[in-house]
Amino acid sequence: MPSMKPKKESESVKVVVRCRPLNEKEKSQGHSKCVTMNLKKGTIEVSNVKAPNDPPKTFTFDSVYDTDSKQQDLYDETFRDLVQSVMDGFNGTIFAYGQTGTGKTFTMQGVKNNPELRGVIPNSFDHIFQHIGRSENQQYLVRASYLEIYQEEIRDLLAKDQNKRLELKERPDTGVYVKDLSSFVTKSIKEIDHVMNVGNQNRSVGATAMNADSSRSHAIFIITIECSSIGPDEENHIRVGKLNLVDLAGSERQAKTGATGDRLKEATKINLSLSALGNVISALVDGKSSHIPYRDSKLTRLLQDSLGGNAKTVMVANIGPAGWNFDETVTTLRYANRAK
Ligand code: ADP
Ligand code: MG
Repeated sequence: MPSMKPKKESESVKVVVRCRPLNEKEKSQGHSKCVTMNLKKGTIEVSNVKAPNDPPKTFTFDSVYDTDSKQQDLYDETFRDLVQSVMDGFNGTIFAYGQTGTGKTFTMQGVKNNPELRGVIPNSFDHIFQHIGRSENQQYLVRASYLEIYQEEIRDLLAKDQNKRLELKERPDTGVYVKDLSSFVTKSIKEIDHVMNVGNQNRSVGATAMNADSSRSHAIFIITIECSSIGPDEENHIRVGKLNLVDLAGSERQAKTGATGDRLKEATKINLSLSALGNVISALVDGKSSHIPYRDSKLTRLLQDSLGGNAKTVMVANIGPAGWNFDETVTTLRYANRAK
């Protein structure tokens, strides 16, 4: 029985950290792990290999997941409640944040055709359709959309015409929405999986055509779940919940990569939506701000009705274990810490 009691903002925003294993390249270059976690306490220590006398930097989060964490455990412990609440008519958002190569797409999508390595998006498909299959007195309608925000422009990853850019609009009754965004009714895991694959395919084709890298765009898979049931008053009741599954652009600082010209302009825009997101989440968690700066970026405007209020949010901050990216790792943990 879900509790209908309104939650404190701080309870509805969860921040967890996940560290990927050392990869072959890092191993062959002799890197070692500079990250130590205490899973029970939710703490993480990062030591600076270049300054071995410095004390390690310590952070605390709602949960921490070490290099051997299992996709299914993350789902059960960290994501399942949020997806369940969407089926109960609330909105929810799951973000993967972090520098490129730290496991955002691994966390969201996982590895295709490997059941144990499926990420939260395919795992949520199973969860949703299993729940629907078991329900007796409810009728469900599941719709899927998939979009990308690149340089503050919105692209519909499911549209026939992949060159079209979409606009954000606002209506007093329904709030902010993406005008003309495609949406597909899906009746099974197979159907929604197909929608996701089409979008992923368009995402990489588009990136190649624009001579861009998909790590520079934010990808949002949106599942809308409508549930109708006959209430005790014998009337038909409809609840609608929306689940946003967000694979954010890489958070790496562009100064380090020596970006200039268009690349720098692009980087500024990426950093704009990531910092706007950080500001919104920290204002929500803080609870004292009367003004939540949703309007500062497309990403936060688009997600306005799914951040704060009755909505649940989980942010997964992904990091790498090796000492060479100590600075980026600490930057990611500071960002995530602000969101807590
Ligand atoms: P990002 O999307 O943040 O750029 P990826 O998800 O593509 O990063 O991950 C980079 C590489 O590391 C991929 O080959 C991925 O399979 C691997 N990887 C990431 N996280 C993990 C993990 N927790 N366990 C095993 N391999 C991982
Ligand atoms: Mg990725």
